Amino acid sequence: MKSTMMSSPMLVPDLTHRAAKIFASVAVISVEPDGTRSRSTLGDLHRRSRELAGALQAAGLVKGDRVATLMWNEREHLEAYFGVPASGGVLHALNMRLHPQDLAHVVVHAQDRFLIVEDVLLPVYEQLRASVHFERVFVVNRSGEKLPEGTECYEAFLAGADTAFSPPDLSEYDPAAICYTSGTTGKPKGVVYSHRSICLHALAISLPDQISVSRFETVCPVSSMFHVNAWGLPFAAVMAGSRTVLPGRNLQPEALLDLFAAEQVTLTAAVPTVWMAILNLIEANPGRWKLSPKLRIGMGGAACAESLIRRFDALGIQIIHAWGMTETGPIATVATLKPVMDTWSEDDRYAQRSRQGMALPFIDLRAVGDDGECPWDGETTGELEIRGPWVAAEYHDQDNDGKWTADGWFRTGDVVSIDPEGYIRITDRLKDLIKSGGEWISSIDLENTLIGHPAVREAAVIAVPHPKWQERPLAVLILRDGTTVDAAELRSFLERDFARWQVPDAFVFVDELPHTSTGKLLKTKLRHDFREWQWE
Ligand code: AMP
Repeated sequence: MKSTMMSSPMLVPDLTHRAAKIFASVAVISVEPDGTRSRSTLGDLHRRSRELAGALQAAGLVKGDRVATLMWNEREHLEAYFGVPASGGVLHALNMRLHPQDLAHVVVHAQDRFLIVEDVLLPVYEQLRASVHFERVFVVNRSGEKLPEGTECYEAFLAGADTAFSPPDLSEYDPAAICYTSGTTGKPKGVVYSHRSICLHALAISLPDQISVSRFETVCPVSSMFHVNAWGLPFAAVMAGSRTVLPGRNLQPEALLDLFAAEQVTLTAAVPTVWMAILNLIEANPGRWKLSPKLRIGMGGAACAESLIRRFDALGIQIIHAWGMTETGPIATVATLKPVMDTWSEDDRYAQRSRQGMALPFIDLRAVGDDGECPWDGETTGELEIRGPWVAAEYHDQDNDGKWTADGWFRTGDVVSIDPEGYIRITDRLKDLIKSGGEWISSIDLENTLIGHPAVREAAVIAVPHPKWQERPLAVLILRDGTTVDAAELRSFLERDFARWQVPDAFVFVDELPHTSTGKLLKTKLRHDFREWQWE
């Protein structure tokens, strides 16, 4: 028997198309570089994203071409989120915090053809310019200043668009966006999302038992639009017809709280570092911000401490702890409670909410240890493996880094236990990376560069807990006989190849480093030895 149902594709531009028909007057609020807020609507978003799609087509874009963006979370970025996939192009949101060499690498690797950049980020583009080739560069020019040579005005590009834009013939399996993530070895790895994976992810996270995104929300994506597409929240918000508030470039706690209060934001999301600073500020200034009584905060990208959930609860703000990766679309588990837990003690309920949570529908999880698949007993630990319709099946055009099992599961590099209720808890990390304020730092790259210094014989870089950034890198070094070097010199040596925030905050000199029987650095022992390190 054959199914009698239509096979209409799930496409990203369908989201704005419907929003324009049903929610045309719903507001999109965007914070400008000068702090003022611009107001437009979901109807405008649809119109302008189609203008962008038409202009890109007229510029010669063919299906699958990459369009890079260098922008904060703002209105024109949202237009690119929908306009680029509508044209058949692939959105590549660039992380301006990367070292210019790394940024140039991903632009070249992804073969980005066009760039849309906002004027305040032109200095980042200037640093890249000599190492990359964009066919055309469009500048969102709010300052009105003269544009650099070889660039064009974004508004003029849109104004010249052919209004009779003809949508390309798209399959839901066609690529819509690409994001890069830190590989454990070598250069960043590209993950290419399809229209289908983006739409399914938006649907799944919006469910009431997950993040719950609806037309009754005012959604403010604080996590960067260049970090796994702000966790898919902009797509979900437009799909639902939510009011959308884009915070622009000022992510200081005070500015965010002013914005949340002024626009009565009800749903937002970012890494714990952002929320810790906000929590401290609210607690220090009781009553200063009249926040929405419905405010909920999605927290992920790094572990969310139970104490943080308790302190926010005391302020009437609900934390939703979620886990995910660039390779998993990103959200794959959410730690909301089940009705059976209503009768649990308060402590047990908080403990459960601080776990990384349960799999979303269509996501399959398992923990695999030395003895095979781990029982769901909440104790046995193994590497978390995952599969599902918004989980990557491979990396774009490069070595798969040993990340997929022979039977097709993605190996996350996170070590977890799974309890009988199906909640995962991360207990360790196999990948040799440091996550500082939500951004990755490769310990291996730092070590390889450090041993290039004439005074360094052996180097180990480890993640050490930090009160503000969650983790910071610390370098443990053995020097060559008869040499001396100090931290300041090592720091400036590393700053040639690494962004300043990636350079270790402390350098410790030792006579010996621990090794495994096969001669590898025993990072677990080092992490244990330095777990109580006091940062200055
Ligand atoms: P990224 O690909 O940059 O999104 O990073 C994904 C990685 O961040 C995961 O493999 C985890 O190591 C870490 N991570 C993400 N969410 C959480 C969380 N809720 N708790 C602990 N670690 C997390």
